[in-house]
Amino acid sequence: MLAGTTAAETEEMKPTEHLVIVGSGIAGIRAALTARATTPLCRITLVGDETSGFYNRIALAAWASQQRPLADLFWHPQNWLRTQNIDTRYGHRVTRIDANAHRLHLQDGSSLAWDRLILATGATPVVPPIPGVDLPGVAPLWTLDHAHTLRQRLTRTAHIGIIGGGILGTELALDLASAGHRVTLIEAEPHLLPQHLPPKAAARLAQHLQQQGIALHLGTSAASITRSTDTLTLHLQDDTAHPVDHIVLSTGVRPNVSLAQDAGLDVTFGIVVNHYMETSAPDILAAGNCTAQNGTGALLWNPAFMQGDTAGHNAFAHRVTLPPMVSPIHFKAVGFPLFIIGDSAQVLPGHRHIESDTPQTYRALTLTPEGRIHSAVFAGDTQRYPQVERAIATGYTVPSALAHETDIEALISALAAHTPAPTAWACRTCGYTSDGPVAPTVCPVCAVGRDQFWAA
Ligand SMILES: Cc1cc2nc3c(=O)[nH]c(=O)nc-3n(C[C@H](O)[C@H](O)[C@H](O)COP(=O)(O)OP(=O)(O)OC[C@H]3O[C@@H](n4cnc5c(N)ncnc54)[C@H](O)[C@@H]3O)c2cc1C
Repeated sequence: MLAGTTAAETEEMKPTEHLVIVGSGIAGIRAALTARATTPLCRITLVGDETSGFYNRIALAAWASQQRPLADLFWHPQNWLRTQNIDTRYGHRVTRIDANAHRLHLQDGSSLAWDRLILATGATPVVPPIPGVDLPGVAPLWTLDHAHTLRQRLTRTAHIGIIGGGILGTELALDLASAGHRVTLIEAEPHLLPQHLPPKAAARLAQHLQQQGIALHLGTSAASITRSTDTLTLHLQDDTAHPVDHIVLSTGVRPNVSLAQDAGLDVTFGIVVNHYMETSAPDILAAGNCTAQNGTGALLWNPAFMQGDTAGHNAFAHRVTLPPMVSPIHFKAVGFPLFIIGDSAQVLPGHRHIESDTPQTYRALTLTPEGRIHSAVFAGDTQRYPQVERAIATGYTVPSALAHETDIEALISALAAHTPAPTAWACRTCGYTSDGPVAPTVCPVCAVGRDQFWAA
């Protein structure tokens, strides 16, 4: 059972009641599995427009660059959900929801009646209005189809341009460079990961990218893209031009809200939900990247996983609240450990900022006026991240004797002494758990590395 569970308010349900879930990403799949486990009698249908059904979106870049096999993307055999008594309609797009009639309409002209509906429609890449952005060979990397296209372009000598130096763009640049490809990365802001990193940490990261042979263009944006025969040219605002074979747009994603909006549900940045994952319409819940539960926060896997669980619990018979979550960012790209938690790009008034800065590493903590950890960034050295993550999760307050401490190592040692050593670990990607003082090197289920484990 999820943390944060309130006493169950069990409702009577008819044995044939039908739960329909739209979206076969992690939020949709978790909602389906949790609803099946908690409400054995209901019918469940999962509708998704991707023909492949559920796959591990996080591993797309590693698969495209041939660093992970396709099997890592698919955790279960194709018919596995059916063996769990969950019907699937893959390759079907939902075009309209009639909230009053409790019916949804599919692109092929058919319709489905539902008693409860969960929207888990995820997010879609933002395509910037750059002249030439619609040319063949220019695409985002968000779906298996995108990854397939990129994989086909990655011949041995391929030169890949990436527009956008946020987390996904930067990780992709490193993945491609480590697979031996030439990479040019463009970021409009003066430093990488501008929404997440202070400039000094970003400088360490930029230095690492350059050491991997990645051509970095910071503080300038793409002005246009042109194509002649097989070569694309990326023209930048600084008047330079860069011939490349393929361009990946890594310029952010935005929640898919149009179905909900057209059905009259409250929508801001995403679909508005409460902590039960209920929307403004009766019998309709929503989960994952399509929601606005976390304001305009990062669109991440683990919150989508937890929200899917919560929506699945609450579809019929239960009332479970979404557990409080800290959602750290761990860089997946090998060679440069990076851990970010909280809003580390800026220091709020009244907060104390303690940092250590060496030629290869940068570490910083910010503390609230009450002595709680507000944010942390460890770049180049993430050894103590589990202690920091636990200190934040447990609301640890720095003792008053350390109120003016400026040595980050002393602060981290103090919080490590007060947070018990981990004895169990959970994979933040697939949920696999493992006992022992040290996390597994590689998750045996989804193959992510040790830094994707949190101390459970
Ligand atoms: C390369 C890459 C690396 C990433 N790395 C990380 C990482 O390290 N850590 C992290 O936290 N996050 C990472 N993410 C982001 C993470 O994958 C997403 O936050 C997560 O997958 C969102 O899950 P979701 O279920 O909410 O939505 P999605 O996975 O987007 O699933 C939604 C599904 O709904 C379908 N759909 C939408 N509309 C309809 C409709 N009308 N009818 C039928 N189906 C519909 C969509 O096609 C999609 O299949 C990464 C993403 C990518 C692409």
